[in-house]
Amino acid sequence: MVAKLDVTKYPGNVINNKFVPTTKTRHSINPSTVEILYEVPVSTQDDVDKAVKHARTAFKTWSKTPFEERAKLLLAYADAVEANLDELEALLTKEQGKPLGLAHREFEMTIKWLRAFATMEVKEDILEENDERKIIQTFPPLGVCCGIVPWNWPVLLGLGKMGPALMTGNTFIMKPSPFTPYCGLKLGELGMSTFPPGVFQVLSGGDDLGPMLTEHPDINKISFTGSCATGKKVMESCSRTLKRVTLELGGNDPAIVCEDVDIEKIVPKIATLSFLNSGQICMLVKRLYVHESIYDRFRDAMVAFTKTMKTGDGFGKDITIGPIQNRMQYEKVKDMYSEISKCSWKVAFGGEIIKDASKGYFITPTIIDNPPDDSRIVTEEPFGPILPMLKWSSEEEVLERANSLETGLGASVWTKDLTRGERMARELSAGSVWVNSHFDVAPNVPFGGHKSSGIGSEWGMTGFKGHCNSRSVWVWKKVFD
Ligand code: NAD
Repeated sequence: MVAKLDVTKYPGNVINNKFVPTTKTRHSINPSTVEILYEVPVSTQDDVDKAVKHARTAFKTWSKTPFEERAKLLLAYADAVEANLDELEALLTKEQGKPLGLAHREFEMTIKWLRAFATMEVKEDILEENDERKIIQTFPPLGVCCGIVPWNWPVLLGLGKMGPALMTGNTFIMKPSPFTPYCGLKLGELGMSTFPPGVFQVLSGGDDLGPMLTEHPDINKISFTGSCATGKKVMESCSRTLKRVTLELGGNDPAIVCEDVDIEKIVPKIATLSFLNSGQICMLVKRLYVHESIYDRFRDAMVAFTKTMKTGDGFGKDITIGPIQNRMQYEKVKDMYSEISKCSWKVAFGGEIIKDASKGYFITPTIIDNPPDDSRIVTEEPFGPILPMLKWSSEEEVLERANSLETGLGASVWTKDLTRGERMARELSAGSVWVNSHFDVAPNVPFGGHKSSGIGSEWGMTGFKGHCNSRSVWVWKKVFD
């Protein structure tokens, strides 16, 4: 029997397969209505210590549990998530703001990812074998892993850390963002009836919870997704205990459109991949470089398509753009919009914030027409629905401009000439580069950033091995002959 969730009740953190209440509680809000949502736990150091202790104990058995058994449990867990899909998707829209269709897509991806993770076994390598000796590289788990999750894509990014940690034999503690704690806690609750105690735990809390985890001497790895600024603090804190750390940080992805494209065919895709989730995804198109010979026609087509994108409450009909997720981010995006008049940027579309924040954090999409390369809208990740379009003339020049920032998460080239596309793709400094697409991800494909966009990768065999130590076992065969 698969557990049925009541998404209105949050009795406590999920520690050792029990709800553990906290003295203090807090709540988040629905960003479409500013309505106060349910009370959730505020973890203390004591809660962290308890969860870590149980995770350590559970590790002794879980790390020895055969891969097939771990896979069976992860698949059962994916089924439990699927059985609660309607409630969970609505909860995600309520707490995160994204349109219901997008919440559905996030859950659909997550379930697919979990099922794929259940097939991904890290195999030992025999590096050498002869009459004299055998050398094997093995990949033992690290111990207790912890995932620190952001608010923009909290389900896939949370369980996208949990799956690889568990499948490689680690135990896992998940910390959702204080802005989106609800789905995370419910996903922990579903784990209670699937995994052995202490294997998968969830702690919710305030701003001080992240540092308690990164500082903890008995946590072996932090997998962090969030901003570049916080990522640096996480790494500094982890260095004190030499924890392993994977950082998935901010991006400012360029998309380069060549002169040979079919404008009408690709504009809907590029506009959608610029404004999806109100621009609050790390790997969206954030700088759109269009060849000068087609620039005006391309811009007009972008404007025409963007006009059809409806902004509003994620539960509304035909809504493609929800609110900005929280007040802090709303103020940051508003600040970027205030640059429009200060710097006299040309606006191709939008440019004004029409709604009153007391009724929801809505900002409609905006396209800035060819601003200078050194303007904030080009050099900073806005994490909101505002996109600069820029003109280019030579391949060499556009590649240099695309690579000129400190970020290097994703990048794309759009052209009918696949040889040229691949050649340009290989010149782009980013963890993921697409030809004629953007933001494709898959559970078997490593995902990470160059430069300030991160350290290490998640997913794929590379991500799985990031949850393991490397052990070289040398066996000498003839010593006693
Ligand atoms: P954030 O850095 O503010 O917070 C991320 C998480 O870190 C939250 O759970 C937060 O509570 C926690 N945290 C805050 N301070 C901490 C500290 N000192 N120590 C440990 N943990 C701490 O990021 P956000 O605003 O939630 O997310 C938006 C940012 O994340 C954007 O820059 C975006 O590009 C980036 N992002 C990157 C990826 C990626 O995979 N590269 C994916 C999604 C989002």
